[in-house]
Amino acid sequence: MSRDYTPTIGLEVHAELATATKMFCSSANDSEEARPNVNVCPVCLAHPGTLPVINRQAVAHVLRVGTALGSTLADYSEFDRKSYFYPDIPKGYQISQFEHPLVKGGNLAGVDITRVHLEEDTARSSHANGASLVDFNRAGVPLMELVTEPVIHDAKTAGIFARELQLLLRTLGASHANLEKGEMRVEANISVSTTDTFGTKVEVKNLNSFRSVERAIAFEIERQIALIESGGQVVQETRGWDEGGQKTFSQRVKEGSADYRYFPEPDLPKLVLSEFEAFTTEALTEALPELPWERRARYFALGLKEDDAAALTGSLAQSAYFDRVLALLGNDSAHIQLAVNYLLNDLGEGLLPHPNAFAELVRMIATNELSSRGAKDVLTVLVATGGESARSVAEEKGLLQESDPEALRRMVGAVIAEHAGVADEYRAGKVSVLQFLVGQGMKASKGAGNPAILRELLIEELSK
Ligand code: ADP
Ligand code: MG
Repeated sequence: MSRDYTPTIGLEVHAELATATKMFCSSANDSEEARPNVNVCPVCLAHPGTLPVINRQAVAHVLRVGTALGSTLADYSEFDRKSYFYPDIPKGYQISQFEHPLVKGGNLAGVDITRVHLEEDTARSSHANGASLVDFNRAGVPLMELVTEPVIHDAKTAGIFARELQLLLRTLGASHANLEKGEMRVEANISVSTTDTFGTKVEVKNLNSFRSVERAIAFEIERQIALIESGGQVVQETRGWDEGGQKTFSQRVKEGSADYRYFPEPDLPKLVLSEFEAFTTEALTEALPELPWERRARYFALGLKEDDAAALTGSLAQSAYFDRVLALLGNDSAHIQLAVNYLLNDLGEGLLPHPNAFAELVRMIATNELSSRGAKDVLTVLVATGGESARSVAEEKGLLQESDPEALRRMVGAVIAEHAGVADEYRAGKVSVLQFLVGQGMKASKGAGNPAILRELLIEELSK
């Protein structure tokens, strides 16, 4: 029975690191460069006699990731040659790390991390009109590889992990980590088993979105179960994800690591990290920004709902903006909740109003000087103009809400006098006419009356 199968998933994630130059040379690391073969030099083109130099910023990024994950940072690390032949790998090997990765262990979103190491990206090849083209702009770009333990058991958890990793990489400034652009690449290893021993795993690639990660895993689990149920056997292979067909397809039978003939890179020095002051655990910990889970906890402690805290934290731009507004609003929980609501429901991730104006707007809503309708109109103007005052926009547009009870009471008196017949109907028990009278009050105030207060005052006056 298919429900007796336990799926097991381990992820391998590559991320292009945000550095000024490539991993082992001074060519620019610029993923936005559209012209092919511009950011190249003899080192990343693998001309004979050239020598690599380790990019310190790339090492720092990986160590910062490890520090954030609570991992063990290597004291001793080295690079290895991973040999294989392909046109996108001009040296005939990739410089990677095998025995001595920079980072081991750690945990993210409940998933145990095996290791994080540093390597170089390959060139980009494209095939069209019977020709193959190779663009070396990407060759030698610093690449971080993070490997998880096989401890994930469903597609959704894998998706949550991958999203959290993207957020962490962006928070640390380690990578832009855009899946669609290939700046972050997730590969899923998937197996199913009915016993305590793992089944044969299949590796799935070309997952260009979090949705694809989740769908490919779910598909592959079903495929493997159906295969075994029909008497077949899972073969260890690499499969691609067919986005159009929403299915995986066989690409190649996987090499074992022995085929790569890993050996220590003789052209690079060994790294003894304690020799670098900036790379001690204390220095690295000290330099970490607020991490996503810390930020979420801080918002939660402020009284935000868990979903709201997560939604704000999910966008660096939104949470940075929210923090600026928080600094202006202080600790008033009603104000904070209003700010969250307007930020998440009315503003989104696009253009945002000046924080001063937004904080003022929130206070005006809280004191009933602005209705929610009026607030939306003021927001539209503030976003468009970048103006710093919500009050002046509200005044200019005549959107200030009249909440002064005395002024409103006079208006209510006038409405009752003018519609004496309707008032009598209400007094005789026809409660439904109240809405009409509120409407008349709104009209009398030219839309500036606070309907809730008008309603209260009407009931009060009519029962006198
Ligand atoms: P390989 O040597 O084939 O690259 P690794 O042991 O390095 O395999 O593991 C690669 C990834 O596959 C890791 O993320 C690991 O957690 C995962 N993995 C290993 N075995 C299994 C399995 N049986 N089922 C699912 N994932 C697995
Ligand atoms: Mg491996």
